[in-house]
Amino acid sequence: MSDNNADIKHTEIKKIGIIGAGQMGHGIAQVAAVSGYDVILSDISEEALKKGVAGIEKSLGKFVKKERMTPEDRDAALARIRTTTSLKEAAQSDLIIEAATENEELKFKIFRDIDAHAPAHAILATNTSSISITRIAAQTERPEKVIGMHFMNPVPIMKLVEVIRGLATDDASYNAVVQAAEKMGKTTVEAQDYPGFIANRILMPMINEAVYVLMEGVGSVEDIDTTMKLGTNQPMGPLTLADFIGLDTCLAIMNVLHEGLGDSKYRPCPLLVKYVDAGWLGRKTGRGFYQY
Ligand code: NAD
Repeated sequence: MSDNNADIKHTEIKKIGIIGAGQMGHGIAQVAAVSGYDVILSDISEEALKKGVAGIEKSLGKFVKKERMTPEDRDAALARIRTTTSLKEAAQSDLIIEAATENEELKFKIFRDIDAHAPAHAILATNTSSISITRIAAQTERPEKVIGMHFMNPVPIMKLVEVIRGLATDDASYNAVVQAAEKMGKTTVEAQDYPGFIANRILMPMINEAVYVLMEGVGSVEDIDTTMKLGTNQPMGPLTLADFIGLDTCLAIMNVLHEGLGDSKYRPCPLLVKYVDAGWLGRKTGRGFYQY
């Protein structure tokens, strides 16, 4: 661990490193840059970085068009984002937010690597939807500085960040992350480290049940979504939402709930498994419960 920035206090976050430039990573990069942070966005894939930056430009363009942002502020935000394929480079930050693929072994490795390269004062956050913060933290030499920072999709629009404490997370890290989230215009809630935390513990079983309802022929895709929209006042039906989140991500979260809580009520619906096996992952692949 290098500690070239050891004189910086926990709360002085100026530079944010983001690992993973997918749907979530580039969204987090955008809100962080708009809020005045210097951002270094990293991914193993050059392609993902290009796509991520294009996504940010498109989203900021919409804000400018709606006159919710000036062209000067957009340009300044874009100028604050650098990209790299080097995790080591991204780790040279005060706060590192990992938003790579939802896979436990992958995240464990990323955290061991970030821990090895980040300055001693750096806080290591994960945007995981469901993997144990305590287990991720145990991969590092600084479990007190490891924390869950669960942004919602799409990041520039959704107001919530669930902040999850691992068993060892200290108050200084918790407070610094809450402050950073608030600076990004978000409202935070505090969740303890149990599978799915608050949001996905409630949301994913509902989505999974919607897939069972479809599999059993109780209702069509459209009727299931219309029922939940018009009958329960949800802005988006559960199957539309599942396509939006990514069916692979939904399945991964159900598996974590099933294994972590050990209750058969969390078993993933076989039809959800089948869609993922087919590569029908939702919007990102052009086909899920709907075609795009
Ligand atoms: P995504 O598939 O869009 O992006 C993941 C990115 O991680 C890809 O660009 C991939 O190239 C990159 N990646 C993989 N291995 C890497 C490595 N070793 N180093 C750097 N980058 C690497 O996935 P996403 O939807 O953005 O999800 C990312 C994380 O955010 C997951 O943990 C997920 O559970 C969580 N999350 C997702 C949502 C959602 O609605 N999609 C919501 C909240 C949280």
